[in-house]
Amino acid sequence: MKRILFSEKIKTAPWLLTIEPYLRKQDQPIASDPQAREPRLVPLVIIDYGNLMARFKQMRYIGKLLFKSVIEMAKSASSIKKNPYAGNRTIDPETLKALEEYAIGLGISEIGYTKVNPRYIFKNFRILYKNAIVFTIEMDKEKIQQAPSVPTFIEIFRTYYEVGVIVNKVADYLRSRGYNAHAGPAIGGDVNYIPVAIDAGLGMSGKNGLLITKKNGPRVRLATVYTDIENLPFSQQHQHSWIRNYCQSCNICVQKCPANAIYRETKTHADLGPIFIDHTKCALPFSNDNGCTLCVKFCPFSYVDYEKLKAKHELKLVLT
Ligand code: SF4
Ligand code: SF4
Repeated sequence: MKRILFSEKIKTAPWLLTIEPYLRKQDQPIASDPQAREPRLVPLVIIDYGNLMARFKQMRYIGKLLFKSVIEMAKSASSIKKNPYAGNRTIDPETLKALEEYAIGLGISEIGYTKVNPRYIFKNFRILYKNAIVFTIEMDKEKIQQAPSVPTFIEIFRTYYEVGVIVNKVADYLRSRGYNAHAGPAIGGDVNYIPVAIDAGLGMSGKNGLLITKKNGPRVRLATVYTDIENLPFSQQHQHSWIRNYCQSCNICVQKCPANAIYRETKTHADLGPIFIDHTKCALPFSNDNGCTLCVKFCPFSYVDYEKLKAKHELKLVLT
């Protein structure tokens, strides 16, 4: 008998957690490109391929944070009703600087700007505005170095929750100054954040499939605020592309992954772009062992300075 896979059957977030019920007539949300990929709902992948019982047991550590993250996710969607609509489309440098300082004061690590490519909006999802302010928040180095462990697992969900709170606050900050905004939470976003963050100049995807950033390597969570402000300082350059080259001769995450889930040669799907990890293999250690996270822990960018790794890499290129 053919197995029913929940991750194949259920492709969308619950309706109330999307912007759809809160849209007004004058809204013109941006739809995904026909070639866009389906969202990957981690809890469903765990049901299909992981250890659901282990996941239930872990709820005592992260249940509260997960619940509060879903509340923030609902807030991100419903708060679009507070948009001024006849919003201001330009921002002066002082207000932008004040916005960045506000976000950093709340705990944000890095900020980037890009126009969202509709290919990165998940199939059947929509976002309210095409311009994205992309945020990273750091996952604590010490806690990541303890992976796999309960403190690491709690850290993962703490950052999911906290960056969700921050993007809601930043969206409200913009609204209070006459701008339109739609907050994209870390859990249950409408968009594949990694390519959007790459376009925003915040980093490059590594072999482990994670965004590798200058400040914190892959020890980050991502979230966004979409807006129709037109004169944001959109990123024009991809200064982190060398990281893919570095990965070619590193392969530490490939070797450390207990499930052989990370592809030594990144696969490329005609429609979906690069595929780094076999999530069906990752699901078991992920659910059995507090979110695993070994591919973050052992990535050199998690604990060695970015510039040092870059210099070493450049020297290696000269010598070979
Ligand atoms: S979380 Fe663990 S199992 Fe999953 S890809 Fe990373 S190292 Fe492999
Ligand atoms: S561990 Fe090495 S190969 Fe894997 S993502 Fe980090 S730098 Fe790339």
